[in-house]
Amino acid sequence: MIQLYNTLSRKKEDLKSSGKAPLQEGRGSREQDKKLKLFVCGPTVYDFSHIGHARTYVAFDMIVKYLRDARFDVLYVQNITDLDDKIIQRAKEQNEDPKELAQRFEKEYMADMEALGISSVSEYARATDHISEIISQVERLLEKGYAYEIPNDGVYFDISKFKDYGKLSHRTLEQAQDAVSRIDESVGKRNKGDFALWKFSEPGEPMWDFKTGKYLGMAAPAYVKTSAGRPGWHIEDTAITEKYLGEQYDIHGGAQDLIFPHHEAEITQMESISGKSPLVNYWMHTGFLTVQGEKMSKSLGNFITIRDFLKNNSPRLLRFFILKTHYRSPIDYSDSVLQQSKNELERIDEFVDRLRNKYEVSSIKYQASPEFKRLKASFEKAMEDDVNTPLAISILFELIRNGNDLIDKGEMTNADKKAMLEFLKRIDVFFGFIFWGREKVDIPEEKQKLVQEREKYREQKNWAKADELRKQIEDRGWVVDDTGSGPIIKRRGGK
Ligand code: AMP
Repeated sequence: MIQLYNTLSRKKEDLKSSGKAPLQEGRGSREQDKKLKLFVCGPTVYDFSHIGHARTYVAFDMIVKYLRDARFDVLYVQNITDLDDKIIQRAKEQNEDPKELAQRFEKEYMADMEALGISSVSEYARATDHISEIISQVERLLEKGYAYEIPNDGVYFDISKFKDYGKLSHRTLEQAQDAVSRIDESVGKRNKGDFALWKFSEPGEPMWDFKTGKYLGMAAPAYVKTSAGRPGWHIEDTAITEKYLGEQYDIHGGAQDLIFPHHEAEITQMESISGKSPLVNYWMHTGFLTVQGEKMSKSLGNFITIRDFLKNNSPRLLRFFILKTHYRSPIDYSDSVLQQSKNELERIDEFVDRLRNKYEVSSIKYQASPEFKRLKASFEKAMEDDVNTPLAISILFELIRNGNDLIDKGEMTNADKKAMLEFLKRIDVFFGFIFWGREKVDIPEEKQKLVQEREKYREQKNWAKADELRKQIEDRGWVVDDTGSGPIIKRRGGK
């Protein structure tokens, strides 16, 4: 049974789906209750994404692919925040229309996600495509008495009206008063922690008609405020999730900074509208990617864009680097830890090459080591335990050590190798760093034979002949490394 840590209960809980999905054939259980509806907060598109963003999105990509591998039918929705203060501000600085700026960076975001092999999202939903759904939620909150209007300002949520306010972040109403973003600031609020649902637009801001949801363009310099405006930060997400996932759904994700006030506000809004609780069964939050202990962020200037990272490194290295750490723990980025990941990835590559090498096999009929079975079972257990990738990856390295050992001793048959390759292929469906993105290194048979022959001469201590064969291999553009676990052949200058 898969267990996930739920931020709401602060416990690991058995993962149960709330809906039925059609019977699925193949591996895994044939249970019917396999539908999972999941939402992850998407990016605010005003600049290039950095590797801190990648941390969160790679983690959820792996989680969703893992759940699908476990035969869950996952509907994964992500929003795109294409209007907010940061976008308006950046557009002003660059003298660009905020919509165009957002569209430009949405494209860049998609390109980055594609480069990282993030292909699990079922639906991306832009905030500006859901203005009427947003207005409908604001209207319902006004009708039910949870929201109030401040003339000449906007519509706010009265947090004192929602008795469960603070249940996700475990804050009291008083503690909850301290975090307001710019859009939530107003002198006329009933409680300091009240947040904006709809803000009447000021000159120089984009605006939508509050009745029809129609886009009215940018408010002119001499514009006098009306109810035309723009949505608050939290309401876009609940409007989108209500449309695609319903009033209640299974999993909501994001990085830990979003627990408060953002996710708290989502619960507050949607549970007030629907009268149903809980909004979400499992709240999952990723830890930060940090640099010297500080969150990587645009505002601190300590960021590396995904684009720049990929100029010098492969996307699979970034996936491996991210997934080596548990999704809830912080990752502190530095050149030395990245180098360590590179070395580890090379060990995986070398093992895969040995598995593919037809000449390093046992001549006797040997059935895959019982260790392999045991390690596979421990791997599954680690993944079922709140997707414990660091443990699962350490088991993968144990498997590699064990496999290299068997090959060295000449105790691995082609059938054993095939079984191991199959296992690695299966787990790479969600990991995406073993085969995915790797330049295919097909070692030509002729070279594999030369390496074999050379090994024979080495065993006979015929160093002259062994060196001659090494030269022949090198002349063909390959190199042989004599490692503790046997010879490894690589393309010269390559991996
Ligand atoms: P933003 O575009 O800033 O709204 O961020 C999009 C998503 O990336 C949110 O879930 C953020 O919390 C997350 N995020 C931003 N910076 C980091 C970081 N340094 N580490 C992990 N996640 C991050």
